[in-house]
Amino acid sequence: MTFRVLSSGEETMHMHEAQYQLIIVGGGPAGLSAGLYAARSRLKALLIEKGMVGGQVLITNQVDNYPGFVEGIQGFDLMEKMAAHAERFGLQKEYAAIASLELEGAVKTVRLENGEVRTAGTVILCTGARPRRLGVPGEEAFAGRGVSYCATCDGPLYRNQDIAVIGGGNTAVQEALHLTKFANKVTVIHRRDTLRATKVLQERAFADPKIDFFWNTRVKEIRGDSQGVDSLLLAHEDNTESVLRVGGVFSLIGIVPNNELLPQDQLELDKAGFVITDADMATSLPGVFAAGDIRSKHFRQIINAAGEGVVAELAAEQYLTGLDLDFSQP
Ligand code: NAP
Repeated sequence: MTFRVLSSGEETMHMHEAQYQLIIVGGGPAGLSAGLYAARSRLKALLIEKGMVGGQVLITNQVDNYPGFVEGIQGFDLMEKMAAHAERFGLQKEYAAIASLELEGAVKTVRLENGEVRTAGTVILCTGARPRRLGVPGEEAFAGRGVSYCATCDGPLYRNQDIAVIGGGNTAVQEALHLTKFANKVTVIHRRDTLRATKVLQERAFADPKIDFFWNTRVKEIRGDSQGVDSLLLAHEDNTESVLRVGGVFSLIGIVPNNELLPQDQLELDKAGFVITDADMATSLPGVFAAGDIRSKHFRQIINAAGEGVVAELAAEQYLTGLDLDFSQP
């Protein structure tokens, strides 16, 4: 059986009714799992996604730790399956950019950039996170010309070249391993002398003859010419500097929350801007839940994002049973 991720536009031809019991904002693992449960509960639910469903997993190469996929699965394929699964039970999706969210009060209002309005008794925020920027000279100028945030997308461009990966977390080490398929040599540049990545990944990276490490080192500048990136200016712990010649650099230094749409004066966020919830994914606003990478938490895995989506949906259903809203009217 083949599956297909629905891309933006494919469902925009459908007429969407304005009033729902539940609106899910964002179509990553958390949103799709909430959507699956909502569809199976026959809730009048809508998932709104601005781009392509799948979220950050789409830019993850091999997923080796999602239970049940013994041999691992490509991030893209896993998300296609999640989307198809929710679709099988009739999850209604709309591809649209949201202009604003009004989340106070019993009726939540979602204003779309096209001027249309959707309302719901409850909302689950699954807006996720995005790659953190390094913030050094050259990063913006060479974005897409040697500076990348996605090894899955851009790895094949660096066949037989020397490249660098910045970061010491799961993403950096996992993607460094993936990049050895294409690159001649991969240098991992980490600001400390210990990796944050899980031990299995560390062991694989240390054993890989194509991977080198620069410890206690920061990138000061990304340099190049009209052809793109050609080198990095590095600052070492002993206050020395050096130049590393590379054809490309993958900056994989963590994530920042996609919280721009959230009413920050109404919703309790942590210092980094992630949404604070209780164990049932309830936020500080009644009827508003959050799940996945947008939540304030320590561990961000696909499996717990999906699990949180389920908890949020079940809690949202329970919340709705206590509300006396009439959803029968268009
Ligand atoms: P992360 O775990 O937050 O690691 C970020 C890395 O970048 C850290 O090593 C950090 O250094 C470094 N860093 C942060 N800011 C920096 C800066 N300004 N300059 C230089 N280095 C900087 O991020 P992640 O690896 O993207 O992972 C995000 C979440 O997704 C994590 O919870 C992770 O476990 C999860 N994830 C899971 C999988 C998987 O299970 N297969 C795969 C990928 C990601 P320090 O160590 O010094 O802080």
